[in-house]
Amino acid sequence: MRRILFSSIIFIFLLSNTSLLQGREVAITIDDLPVTSIVKEIGFKQELTNNLLAKLKKYNVPAIGFVNEGKLYENDSLINERVDLLKQWLAAGLDLGNHTFSHKSLNRIPAKDYIEDLLKGERIVRGLIKDAGKELNYFRHPFLHTGRSIEVRDSVENFLKEHNCRIAPVTIDNSDWAFARGYEKALLDNDSTMMKKIVDAYIPYIESKFEHFEFVSRELFGREIKQILLIHANKLNANHFNELAKMMIKRGYKFIPLEKALEDKAYNSTDTFFGAGGISWLHRWALTEGKDKSIFKTDLPAPDFVMKYAGIESE
Ligand SMILES: [Zn+2]
Repeated sequence: MRRILFSSIIFIFLLSNTSLLQGREVAITIDDLPVTSIVKEIGFKQELTNNLLAKLKKYNVPAIGFVNEGKLYENDSLINERVDLLKQWLAAGLDLGNHTFSHKSLNRIPAKDYIEDLLKGERIVRGLIKDAGKELNYFRHPFLHTGRSIEVRDSVENFLKEHNCRIAPVTIDNSDWAFARGYEKALLDNDSTMMKKIVDAYIPYIESKFEHFEFVSRELFGREIKQILLIHANKLNANHFNELAKMMIKRGYKFIPLEKALEDKAYNSTDTFFGAGGISWLHRWALTEGKDKSIFKTDLPAPDFVMKYAGIESE
């Protein structure tokens, strides 16, 4: 009897685990193109881009990159080699979107100025996308800041609607940028021990974000929605996307394009959020529904040593 009970428990465990592993899907979105780094040398940016694109290709990731056109200039002159990095993304069959010209926060400037910066942010990229036979369809708010009042939020949203540009939400939000800042600092200091320590903490950290947002998704929708991950075009991800991809595959994820993720009905959920935070859309929907704050408690911060080493006060 005990044996039968034991086998049944094992069977149920396997069944529930398998059902969890089936059908997970994630769109990978990469911000701050062409690259985010303090290093100005074009060789560094090219190597970073080559590395990142090679890894996205290896794992067949139909990623979309969000561009800050301001990064294409140096003292007001356009640097063609930097434009070439964007062409490489398109040549690799990947998509590009608008992330404004100068990466200003909608929480800090008037909506009118923000829209101006947004339009300035697609002067080059719209043409590049067209040359690749595609359309500019997506916009991502810098810092995920969507406005501190409903009026500001709506004025930009309404503008984007008329402009035929869809907002690219994020569900799996995280502070990869903090790890990347530390990683690049260690790299420039030739501190390979610290680089390894940061990478060793980074992959489990991102996995903890997946666990958290899968949980929130089940709490809100009774199922796991098609997720949208945000990471940045930095040296850390360029060097270690392999490990990230393996972690996601181990969790049963398939990589899908952003438009496929947005077919999930979850993305039509009511969202009344406005405020200072640049937060996940899952958290926005949870706040809109008035969910208990305990739902946020498994959203773990980056480890102290990373924040300290990267010189960041708090997350
Ligand atoms: Zn950004």
